[in-house]
Amino acid sequence: MDKIFAYISQNQDSYIKRLAEVVAIPSVSGDAKHRQDVVRMGEWLVQEMTRLNVSTKIHHPGKQVLDGVELDLPPVVLGTYGTDPAKRTVLVYGHYDVQPALKSDGWTHDPFTLVEDEQGRLFGRGSTDDKAPIISWLWVIEAHQKLNIDLPVNIKMCFEGMEESGSEGLDDIIYKEAKDYFATVDCVCISDNYWLGTKKPCVTYGLRGISYFTLEISGPGRDLHSGVFGGTVHEPMTDLVYLMSKLVSPNGKILIPGIYDEVAPVTDDEHKLYTDLDFSVKDIHQAIDATNTIHENKQDILMHRWRFPTLSLHGIEGAFYGAGAKTVIPAKVIGKFSIRSVPNQKPETIKALVTSFIQQEFAKLNSKNKITITELSAGPAWVADVKHYNFRAASKAIETVFGITPDYTREGGSIPVTLTFQEALGKNVLLLPMGRADDGAHSINEKIDRSNYIEGIKLLTSYLHEISHAQ
Ligand SMILES: [Zn+2]
Repeated sequence: MDKIFAYISQNQDSYIKRLAEVVAIPSVSGDAKHRQDVVRMGEWLVQEMTRLNVSTKIHHPGKQVLDGVELDLPPVVLGTYGTDPAKRTVLVYGHYDVQPALKSDGWTHDPFTLVEDEQGRLFGRGSTDDKAPIISWLWVIEAHQKLNIDLPVNIKMCFEGMEESGSEGLDDIIYKEAKDYFATVDCVCISDNYWLGTKKPCVTYGLRGISYFTLEISGPGRDLHSGVFGGTVHEPMTDLVYLMSKLVSPNGKILIPGIYDEVAPVTDDEHKLYTDLDFSVKDIHQAIDATNTIHENKQDILMHRWRFPTLSLHGIEGAFYGAGAKTVIPAKVIGKFSIRSVPNQKPETIKALVTSFIQQEFAKLNSKNKITITELSAGPAWVADVKHYNFRAASKAIETVFGITPDYTREGGSIPVTLTFQEALGKNVLLLPMGRADDGAHSINEKIDRSNYIEGIKLLTSYLHEISHAQ
């Protein structure tokens, strides 16, 4: 291992040069103008994989309509490196598309030119999410080849170009290949999230689900003037604001009866996990640029972020929001809210509880308006078995590279593909982040630190070696 680590350290400038090469491809999946760039990024990967003797299989998931244009979805690139039945097979996933970025959003320099500052921070769109992690898997293979060291596992790869746009088309491919291309997979590793803080590496074992709802209230046939019709009609906005106020209390408690019934109870072991985490109340104050947190200690803050359900109100379509004293009565308004769900909540139960509660509350109003409740999307939470050798291998690898016992973390958000892999393949899935909490994925001035990238390549190397003999 020392030999490989030394090789990786010696070659860091070449890894950074190649990260600059991929950051320069603006593979923005959510913008039709950039679709060719997304495809070009996929081709770049295929070319590198071929150079490294990774055999590839390309899936074309079909078409989509974006900005009024029909486009081919970018390819899903599958790869196989090694087919030795005596070795374990690890499936690694990553995405090669990125979030949009414009210099005018507030970037200090062109987002698609990788720039390193004196502190060794490598700025550029996609640097941490998810280009450095995805190409690092290839550098692990390359290092073994250059040093003539046998890789002790087989690797399967699944790289997609639509993650930032809902992974359109990916689930079907995973289910289709589960018993075929992925049949020999023993465990799954996804490097597409971040350390909890800025100093301590972590492994991630849980994500919340999400159920997103719209609540539409309509009444008058057109928008009305309050001077003429105020006091004479049931106003949709009044009904909507009343109903939305019934969903959640100002201190974050969901008010829908029964919503907490399915939530898995907190165990003693779990309580202990939260005490040593690299996180403080100050971190969250920094992250929100304010101090108006509901909870005052890190355990409560993180438990409410990770393992309790929450309900957030997001917006009202059709509401007047411009400056000035407009006196309109909107004819139709659509409220938007979502519930971040946790084990063992089921989306079906959430939908049933939400719908019946709102209808019940609406009935109390005796309003002649029309109400429609729609579940726009729903995906359940994910939690992995941390006692699996996959987690032990990752933990050991972190100890080897960083000399520290990692945090076991969850996340408040959702990465739906995680659950798809777990369900389609029936194998253990692990999230092994490379970047830090302050990397600014999806934000302006996204970066990855040089040390996170280079030590990250060592981490993935060490992880694969640990997997080969982990019990
Ligand atoms: Zn990502």
